[in-house]
Amino acid sequence: MAVPDAIPTAPQSRALPEPGDVLPITRWGTPVMHHELRDVTEFDDDLAKLVSDMVATMYAAHGVGLAANQVGVDLKVFVFDCPDGDENRVTGVVCNPVLTLPEGKERHLDEADEGCLSLPGAFTGCARPDQAHVTGFDQTGAPVEFHGTGLLARCLQHETDHLFGTVFGDRLAERARKKLYKQHGELADHYPADWPVTPAGVDD
Ligand SMILES: [Zn+2]
Repeated sequence: MAVPDAIPTAPQSRALPEPGDVLPITRWGTPVMHHELRDVTEFDDDLAKLVSDMVATMYAAHGVGLAANQVGVDLKVFVFDCPDGDENRVTGVVCNPVLTLPEGKERHLDEADEGCLSLPGAFTGCARPDQAHVTGFDQTGAPVEFHGTGLLARCLQHETDHLFGTVFGDRLAERARKKLYKQHGELADHYPADWPVTPAGVDD
């Protein structure tokens, strides 16, 4: 899902660094996608370069969020550029996220379509809480926090899941998961192995 450029930016939004180099996106089934990643402990130049490359890769793939293991790196960091429930744009970098979800009467599930850049081309409904709060650190080590509504609530949960080795297929019932893989299989030819370094093919 691409973000329109013209939408207003929310006050909680934090600027992303300039995009670096586009990297190939790691697919489901690769081991780094399926285990908990390491905490970020050094907020150094290597981390800054990784985050810049993740921003470039997210935009090249027209995504609203990207986790480090999606570019093959074993570190707890994700980037996002995603509209919230008021259609305001929110961007940010989160290292070592701590996610809080509403409980009890505050907990409402939203069953909207979800997709993943590491299973390109496939989407299916996935029930998740309609709000999410995340705290962590940016790539300089400064504390950050974001409150997600609408698509941003889904995005913060999806990206935090990645850093703990969970893909959204893990959250689906068997039948929905099979349908998702079938849909991906039908479109897989459009996505070169090094996508989005090589762009996706056009539909027949
Ligand atoms: Zn994903």
